[in-house]
Amino acid sequence: MDFRVGFGYDSHRFAPDRPLVIGGIVIPYELGLAAHSDGDVLIHAVCDALLGAAGLKDIGTYFPDNDPTWKNVDSTKLLAKVVELLAERGWKVNNLDCTLILEKPKMKPHVDAIIGRLSELLKVESDRIAVKAKTNEKMGFTGAGEGIAATAAATIVRS
Ligand code: MG
Repeated sequence: MDFRVGFGYDSHRFAPDRPLVIGGIVIPYELGLAAHSDGDVLIHAVCDALLGAAGLKDIGTYFPDNDPTWKNVDSTKLLAKVVELLAERGWKVNNLDCTLILEKPKMKPHVDAIIGRLSELLKVESDRIAVKAKTNEKMGFTGAGEGIAATAAATIVRS
């Protein structure tokens, strides 16, 4: 059994007139996240964790932000593609543990929906996925409410 660990990080700045999409779920809030894609900071961190675990290049290599194909793209499509890249190499997701860092909005009401969506996308049981959210105690850019950061740790297996 071959077993790997990967770690991903991403951050995006808040921007007006955009939907806030986190973990493939639209979260009701007055601001969205600025990005070439839909700005789904959590999905981007998950993609990098999985790609890293498989020894592949980063998300920007596969989905460059100067390629019009990915303009305002639903990032769950990117994650589906990453899962395919891993499957082609015999990798299956074993577990995923994520943390969102933001002051607002409150994520607790949305965490179960996000876990459900990630479970579908990664084709693994929801009890193999953890999503947590915390504030940064008003420190730094997340603390000042300028944007959202996300981290993700993933393990993958190949038999
Ligand atoms: Mg990103």
